[in-house]
Amino acid sequence: PQERKILSAVLELKSKVIGRVMTPIDKAFMIDINANLNQHLLKQIYSEGYSRIPVYEGVRENIVGLLMTRDLVLINLENTIVTIKQLSSILLRDVIAIDVETKLEPVLSYFKQNNTHMGLVTTKSKEIGSELTLTNVGIVTIEDIIEEILQEEIEDE
Ligand code: ADP
Repeated sequence: PQERKILSAVLELKSKVIGRVMTPIDKAFMIDINANLNQHLLKQIYSEGYSRIPVYEGVRENIVGLLMTRDLVLINLENTIVTIKQLSSILLRDVIAIDVETKLEPVLSYFKQNNTHMGLVTTKSKEIGSELTLTNVGIVTIEDIIEEILQEEIEDE
């Protein structure tokens, strides 16, 4: 029955953690901030097909922002010798960090309230003799959360 489906979805949101629904970092399509915005890169971005691309600097674990592919229409292709970094003021957006143990519900609320679609999933790791550091382990979008709820409904049938 409908009530049971709704209840199941609510329980799912309250009990399941983000780490269970995220896309692992090694599966994420990301680009280096020092990459040249040339035709080759734009083709690659187009063929991957994602609307949001995490941008890292140096190593993939060091994510510095988010690129919205739709913002790339602003780029003048004749002027190709430019990196993302050089255009970071117009191309890079802030991205929030979400602990891997966070339940789905607060993340979904945050996404809705802030009109945000993607977050970085992180774990806290303690380095010997220093303070806590965050390690990026994945990315999560509002789609991953909604998908999880719908999946549960289908399994229930
Ligand atoms: P899009 O709008 O780009 O199609 P969605 O937010 O609908 O992306 O998410 C669809 C799936 O793709 C989700 O599982 C999400 O985690 C994953 N995803 C989104 N962006 C990326 C990316 N840059 N690299 C890898 N996976 C991604």
